[in-house]
Amino acid sequence: MAETRHTKVLIIGSGPAGYTAGVYASRALLNPILVQGIEPGGQLTTTTEVENWPGDTEVQGPDLMVRMESHARAVGCEIVGDIITDLDLSRRPFTAQGDSGATYSADAVILATGARAKWLGLPSEEKFKGFGVSACATCDGFFYRGQEIVVIGGGNTAVEEALFLTNFASKVTLIHRRDELRAEKILIERLMKNPKIEPLWNHVLEEVVGTDAPLGVEGVRARHVDTGKITEIPAKGVFIAIGHAPASELVKDQLETHMGGYVVVEPGTTRTSIPGVYAAGDLTDHVYRQAVTSAGMGCMAALDAEKFLAEQGDVSGRVMTEPLGYGAEVEADT
Ligand code: FAD
Ligand code: NAP
Repeated sequence: MAETRHTKVLIIGSGPAGYTAGVYASRALLNPILVQGIEPGGQLTTTTEVENWPGDTEVQGPDLMVRMESHARAVGCEIVGDIITDLDLSRRPFTAQGDSGATYSADAVILATGARAKWLGLPSEEKFKGFGVSACATCDGFFYRGQEIVVIGGGNTAVEEALFLTNFASKVTLIHRRDELRAEKILIERLMKNPKIEPLWNHVLEEVVGTDAPLGVEGVRARHVDTGKITEIPAKGVFIAIGHAPASELVKDQLETHMGGYVVVEPGTTRTSIPGVYAAGDLTDHVYRQAVTSAGMGCMAALDAEKFLAEQGDVSGRVMTEPLGYGAEVEADT
C-alpha cells in the first residue's frame, strides 16, 4: 500500500525560497518535509557565476544551492526527492500526492515552486527544441564550440547567457525586440565590450530554420518590428531567454492568482487566500525575482506558518507563549 507521511509543514520546492523555509521551519522544531521537485536547487542550478548573493563576491549557482541544501539538512529538514503531482487544499490536513506514489499530509503548506522558462510558442521553436533550440545556456552551451549562436531576449538572463556562450561560440547574435536592454547596467557594459557579441535591435524571432534529417538548426529569420524586413542569420544554436512564468499549476484553481499565474499573498506576508497555505519566492513575486528576495520570503513563510500552527495549537509537544522567532519563549511540555 502507498505510504502516507504526515508533517506539520510541507515545503514544496528546493530553490532559495524552499531551502530557506526549510532552515527556519527546522529551527522552529516543526520537523518539515521538503519535496525537491524536478529541479533540485531550482533556477540557480542553470547558471554559472552569481555575483549578488550577499557574503559571496562570486559563487557558482549550483554550488550555492548545494550549500543551501546542506544547511537545511544540517538543521533537521527532511529533504525528499519527489515531485508533487496533485495538491488538495480544500481541507486540513492538506494532502499532496507525490510522483513516487507517496502521499503527504500537512497542517501547513509552504509553496516555493518558483518559475519556469517561457517559450515564444513558434511551431519552428517547438520542432527544434532539444535539437538546437534551448532555454539553458549552461546546460547546452558546450555543444556549440566554434559555432554561431543566437540568443533571444533583453533581460539579465539573455545578457548573461550571451556572455556565457562566448566561451564556446565563434559569434553570438543577441536579438531583442527593443533598442534598450532591461538587464543590469554592469551586465550591459560587459555585453557591449565583448567583441564576439552582436546585438540586433528591434527584431523578433520569426522562424527557426534547419534540416529534417538529421533534425538540426541552421539559422533564424528575424523580423524588424517596424518595417517587417526579414534578416537571415546563420546559427547552429538558438537560446530563448525571454523570462520566466510562475510554476503555479498545482494551485491555480485553488488559490487567488494574478499577473499571469503569480500566487497572490497578503501584502507584507506570505499568506495566501487559504489559511495555513503560504507562498514564497518567484511563485508569488512578479517584481523582484532574485535569489536573495526569494530566500527572504522563504524565511517569512516559515515564520508565518509557525505562527499559524501555534495559534491553531498544532505545535505538539511544547507550550508556546508566543510563536517562535526572535525573542519567542518556549517551554518544554513535560
Ligand atoms: P526556483 O529557484 O525557481 O525553484 C523552484 C523549485 O520548485 C525547484 O526546486 C523545483 O524543482 C520545485 N518545484 C516546482 N514544481 C514542483 C512540484 N510540482 N513539486 C515539487 N517541487 C516543485 N537571481 C539572483 O539573485 N542572482 C543571479 O545571479 C541570478 N541568476 C539567474 C540566472 C538564470 C539563468 C536564471 C534563470 C535566474 C537567475 N536568477 C538570479 C533568479 C533566481 O534564480 C530566482 O529568483 C530564484 O531561483 C527563485 O527562487 P525560488 O526558490 O522562488 O524558485
Ligand atoms: P525578464 O527580466 O522578464 O526579461 C525578459 C526579456 O525578454 C525582456 O527583455 C523582454 O523584452 C523579452 N521578451 C519577453 N517576451 C518576449 C517575446 N515574446 N518576444 C521577444 N522578447 C520577449 O526575464 P529574465 O531575464 O529571465 O529575468 C527574470 C528575473 O530573474 C529578473 O528579475 C532578473 O533580474 C532575475 N535574474 C537576475 C540575474 C542576476 O542578478 N544576475 C540573472 C538572471 C536573472 P522587454 O524588455 O521588451 O520587455
